[in-house]
Amino acid sequence: MALINILDHQTIDKIAAGEVVERPASVVKELVENAIDAGASAVTVEIKDGGTSLIRVTDNGGGIEKSQIHNAFLRHATSKITSADDLTKLVSLGFRGEALASIAAVAMVELISKTPQELTGIRYVIEGGMEKEQEEIGAPEGTTVLVRNLFYNTPPRRKFLKQPQTEGSYVADLMEHLAMSNPDISFKFIINGQSRFYTAGNHELQEIIYRIYGKEIAAQLVPFHYEDKGIIIDGLLGKPVINRSNRNYEIFYVNGRYIKSTLISKAIEEGYREYLMQHKFPFCVLHFTIDTDRIDVNVHPTKMEIRIADGPAFYDTVMRAIHEALHETEMIPQVSLADRKEEREEKTNRTTEHKKVSVPEPFEKRRIAETASCPVKSDAIARIYQKNQSNRSQPDSDRVRETADYHVTAKATVKDIMTQKPVQMELFDDKILSEQARVHFEIIGQLFDTYWLIAYEDKLLIVDQHAAHEKVKYERFMKRFREHDIASQTINPPIVLTMNGKERECYLKHAEDFEALGFMIEEFGGNDYAIRGVPLDLYGYEEKEFFREILDELADESVTGTPESIRIRIATMACKAAVKGNMHMNREEAEQLIDELLTLDNPYHCPHGRPTIISMTKYELEKKFKRIVT
Ligand code: ADP
Ligand code: MG
Repeated sequence: MALINILDHQTIDKIAAGEVVERPASVVKELVENAIDAGASAVTVEIKDGGTSLIRVTDNGGGIEKSQIHNAFLRHATSKITSADDLTKLVSLGFRGEALASIAAVAMVELISKTPQELTGIRYVIEGGMEKEQEEIGAPEGTTVLVRNLFYNTPPRRKFLKQPQTEGSYVADLMEHLAMSNPDISFKFIINGQSRFYTAGNHELQEIIYRIYGKEIAAQLVPFHYEDKGIIIDGLLGKPVINRSNRNYEIFYVNGRYIKSTLISKAIEEGYREYLMQHKFPFCVLHFTIDTDRIDVNVHPTKMEIRIADGPAFYDTVMRAIHEALHETEMIPQVSLADRKEEREEKTNRTTEHKKVSVPEPFEKRRIAETASCPVKSDAIARIYQKNQSNRSQPDSDRVRETADYHVTAKATVKDIMTQKPVQMELFDDKILSEQARVHFEIIGQLFDTYWLIAYEDKLLIVDQHAAHEKVKYERFMKRFREHDIASQTINPPIVLTMNGKERECYLKHAEDFEALGFMIEEFGGNDYAIRGVPLDLYGYEEKEFFREILDELADESVTGTPESIRIRIATMACKAAVKGNMHMNREEAEQLIDELLTLDNPYHCPHGRPTIISMTKYELEKKFKRIVT
């Protein structure tokens, strides 16, 4: 018969610690939350080696009385609630009374604290759950907790930790969220002796965002306030120009807690829907204040999840509030935005074929509406129309037809050509795209700024310049990439960009890949990095935006694969970007493009599998004109 043992209190603590203390970031979270609960207006967090060797949290809050210090480290000892009833009206961040006990069970902890009422403070040392020292000392008001050698007595748990750099980035991520959730508290965050960021605690959320994400993000925010039905939402909504490629920047807090909630995420995204391209997500920082009896935070010890009563109604409220706020913002014309709009329109027109856009971008949409009643359809409007059509991701042939209907009703011949069902080239069949055939090509001209018409023997060839260009660039770039022959272009002055914790972590992880691609990046102090060089093909394209896009992609947890596949992914993106930046084409360039296309192994499809060229035979045309009746 197996004996049933009652575990001793240290063992129980060690087991329970697993729930609360998973990694350095969870320790920091608990300690900072304690500081906030203690009414601190200034909190300093310092970590070394990702928090594995040292975590220090110093606050200027109310402190712990000498007589209470022992209790503070007991499991289920808390000054914040007295009974389960209190859970429904919880306003403090902590309540379980297990953080200090859990941390002390798996690390070497030293706590120094002094309350305003007492003349002296106390120093208390506890290691692996065992009290080591307790002495009266002179100390400033407030509390300092030092956590050394996390998991020193639980080697298997220590093994589960990631590299110090990665653990450090989790802490940085957390600190950013904590700073944004508490704009009234001044935070100082130090990693390995270097100051990472500092916030003033002056209530200015925008300033905090500036400190963490840099000035470009901070300049593209719309203040947001909503208040009704027991919900208050305050914060900042990012304009569509700063939409991101993953969800990491949908940041929200419920009653001061940083929360992950699919319900809230989806509601925000739905509110943004018209402004989000596929695979893009908004940037926003929102504080929700919800009546405490409508939410349940007691779902998980780390308290990242909550339950919200009447979820569907809540979802609807949030979605509508955001939708309306964004719409209202749109109504206010801004000169600088209009300029950008033109610029973007121009650029998107050139890249229409490459973007899978689920809905038109907001400004463009309005433009279409404005111009719909205009009798004279200028070229620019036609282009927008064309873009709009292509946005619907129709098959290419249909797209061509609709555009043709719109433009060229008078020229029946061209229209008829286009309404013919074009046939995609049979790969290699006739070797039409061969260098021998090339000399017989007669370039007739360009259609709709997009297609080049070529007569060849008894065929009309139609080349999609965008697809062809993309293909050529892609192959060129990949070839150089494979041969480690990527050229860099120096940028002068360098582009300085601010990376937050996650981005930095991601960048450092792939620094060599970026370098292999031709990026030259250097630390620039604090959170800033200087991009001094970019891949030659990328020069002139919005390098910074592109760089961020890659980081977002790589930071997406779902991105896994061999280093090689990740490198290819980066290269593919680099290449797509390069194509975007370079779309204007005259006849001479078209000739060159076709020449180069012919040198490729598979010239018939762009990297996304769309055809670069279609053909129509003379026979088909003659049938159409009823010259041949069969
Ligand atoms: P909880 O926060 O859930 O109450 P903890 O184990 O985190 O549990 O803390 C136990 C108790 O120690 C708290 O209830 C609080 O009274 C006290 N305490 C912890 N950290 C601080 C601090 N930084 N300042 C003042 N009191 C603190
Ligand atoms: Mg606590």
